[in-house]
Amino acid sequence: MIMESYHWWSQKQKDIAREAKKFADANLPMGEEVMLTKEFPSVPLKEVGERGWFGAAIPEDYGGIGIGVTGCCIVAEELSRVCSALTCSYSVTMFGGVEQLLKFGNEEQKKRWLPEIAKGQIIGGICITEPYAGSDAAGIETTARHEKGAYMLNGKKRFTTNAGIADIYCLYAKTSDKPEDKAKYRHLSAFIVEKGTPGFSVERINELGGWIGLPNGYLDFDEAGVPEENRLGNEGDGWEILVDGLNFERNLFAAGMLGPMREAIRYAVSHAERRVQFGKRTIDYQVNQFKIADMISKLQTARLLTYHAAHLMDMKRDPVLEATIAKLYTSEAYGELMPEAIQVMGGDGWTRFYPVEGFARDSKGNEIGAGTSEVMRMVLFRWGTKAMAEDLKMPPRQVHKKLGFPISTMDPSMTTQVSETSVLELLARNYRVNPGLYMNHDDMKRWMSTTNEELSKLLESLEKEGLARLHRDRRGGITLARATYKGLKKAKPLEYYQWFPDWVKKETLS
Ligand SMILES: Cc1cc2nc3c(=O)[nH]c(=O)nc-3n(C[C@H](O)[C@H](O)[C@H](O)COP(=O)(O)OP(=O)(O)OC[C@H]3O[C@@H](n4cnc5c(N)ncnc54)[C@H](O)[C@@H]3O)c2cc1C
Repeated sequence: MIMESYHWWSQKQKDIAREAKKFADANLPMGEEVMLTKEFPSVPLKEVGERGWFGAAIPEDYGGIGIGVTGCCIVAEELSRVCSALTCSYSVTMFGGVEQLLKFGNEEQKKRWLPEIAKGQIIGGICITEPYAGSDAAGIETTARHEKGAYMLNGKKRFTTNAGIADIYCLYAKTSDKPEDKAKYRHLSAFIVEKGTPGFSVERINELGGWIGLPNGYLDFDEAGVPEENRLGNEGDGWEILVDGLNFERNLFAAGMLGPMREAIRYAVSHAERRVQFGKRTIDYQVNQFKIADMISKLQTARLLTYHAAHLMDMKRDPVLEATIAKLYTSEAYGELMPEAIQVMGGDGWTRFYPVEGFARDSKGNEIGAGTSEVMRMVLFRWGTKAMAEDLKMPPRQVHKKLGFPISTMDPSMTTQVSETSVLELLARNYRVNPGLYMNHDDMKRWMSTTNEELSKLLESLEKEGLARLHRDRRGGITLARATYKGLKKAKPLEYYQWFPDWVKKETLS
């Protein structure tokens, strides 16, 4: 299947896309073998290294090929057509070293590790998650004690992809217990832990529900000494480094789901074109065509989101929203697509004689690894509402003079008279146009030239008199206000609030 090279890709990126596709095509049978033998695909991974593709995001100065995050995604997409063990091992090496070293490593650290990573001679791992700290990554318990030019690590990590096969692990540990450091997220530091460090052992390898052949496990650190030179950034920079790497991780993770989506569509279509039921090919049933149409739509949308976020990263932007959406959308689209592909193939789709059921088993891991879908939504709510803050401002509303309807206005008539009476009148007017809603300070200041302090004072007086009801934040600051029924009565006569549609017969009301 030829997938589109996007028009903004460089010639070098387009060339790699073509080469990576050829490589993946040739290795598809090996990918299916992995699903059956559960053996880690070390031979093709070595070849990926020899081709220099581990150096996709590494600049040429450090031995890479410098085709950016987009280049990494191109490689990950094609490798993911082969098997998840291959693509995950590749991607985790990228975000378990490359991104952090490039952004936070000093010159010596970059020169020491990046050229070897670029050639595939060093496999990376990332150690954030612990037995008792998952989504709440700031709750990491593993400690790093500074002692005689080294940091002594104590604790456990789990769900570490590439456990045992990695040569370096980018690990986050606690370097401070001070509440003030924790409050400012300055309690963590980042380290590169090398394989063979005394006191560091692999504790367990997980038997995962999918991602067959990929070593993922628990690591134990018992007075494991890491030299000071292996610390990334300064002590206390750990959280910043961790969070900074997340866009890259989520983006690359999304790219690694595109391949199986392409393959599943290929199998669904190929199967339905060759299967005859009730005298017709099953692809001729519109119900199957619609399923395939939806699969194509999901794949193309996921692909666009992924490469758009990658492009923004290559433009040195910080696309928190775009990378988070790419990860969330792609993992959920993948999860929806696989059962549909199986359904189009009927019973055959659910046998292990085709790889689609294996992709379906992989799908759940995609909604958990690199942050769960719930965490993606938490990020999107927080960042999305912040990014759209200007667009999300509630428009001032007033009763239209001719129509008598409450509608928004871009030209609120400001009053300079600021008093208890005018504030109460404002709250009463709000009851007319937004019945049931409180007003915040900004809402009120769109009608009244005043300050937050002055407003708060007046609102507190109104509250004391029982004319206003206030809502406060945890520190006691006023966040919202409305008139009480007593306040509404004091502000205006009942007729002011009354409104009836034309079709209501007035005589029925009394
Ligand atoms: C296959 C695989 C590979 C992985 N590879 C790595 C790796 O290489 N390195 C690494 O460090 N980690 C890795 N992880 C760990 C992964 O990042 C965590 O599994 C993930 O962050 C969730 O943590 P948890 O499993 O402890 O779930 P928990 O945090 O215990 O969450 C359980 C459930 O509660 C929900 N939840 C938690 N908190 C909230 C909240 N505040 N609001 C709403 N819902 C909430 C979660 O969304 C989830 O549904 C991997 C995981 C998997 C499955």
